[in-house]
Amino acid sequence: MLVIIDNGHGVNTAGKCSPDKRLLEYKWAREIAQLLQEQLKAHGVKAVRIVTEDTDISLKERCRRANALCDKHGTSNCIFVSIHANAAGGDGKWKSAGGWCVYTSPGKTKADELATCLWNEANVALAPYAERFHVLQAQGAYDNKQVPFRADWSDGDPDYEARFTVLTGTKCPAVLTESLFQDNKSDMEYLLSEEGKAAIVKLHVNGILKYIGK
Ligand SMILES: [Zn+2]
Repeated sequence: MLVIIDNGHGVNTAGKCSPDKRLLEYKWAREIAQLLQEQLKAHGVKAVRIVTEDTDISLKERCRRANALCDKHGTSNCIFVSIHANAAGGDGKWKSAGGWCVYTSPGKTKADELATCLWNEANVALAPYAERFHVLQAQGAYDNKQVPFRADWSDGDPDYEARFTVLTGTKCPAVLTESLFQDNKSDMEYLLSEEGKAAIVKLHVNGILKYIGK
């Protein structure tokens, strides 16, 4: 099995950052992707990053790189995981949304199984985050509609579905994770903490290991 890791955006992508610019999504996603690659390799799982440049690479080119790997290694031997942090708005203001979620393309595919593995492991690895979430929610850090593990159960599983180019344009099972909100102050603090980074890497490692049966 080859894990194809994509890290969202680039240094030249405007607006993908926390309102105070302490968290830059492209930089954070690259750090998580690199740690994920290292830890998968430590578990004996082959993993490659398709965007090692700091600049933004077009969605079409990301798909082309992933599909070239599918052709080389066999599509059934590959999975694709794109690493992102969420945002509730792009206006440079702090927001009250928070939580973790995962996306797949519409319809039932193997990606739904991978997404469910990741969602289940998120509930384990981010349990301390969730505990804090409820305390901070009572203090107003998150509005009362927010939950730590966001899910769309309308089709019987927890993933959200969207026609994101990297999900519909890649041949192998593909998921995109939105790990917490960069424009929520509490989420951002967690995303930048060593504890938070470790937990987010861990949920991806363990979810992938579960999916591939290791
Ligand atoms: Zn993003």
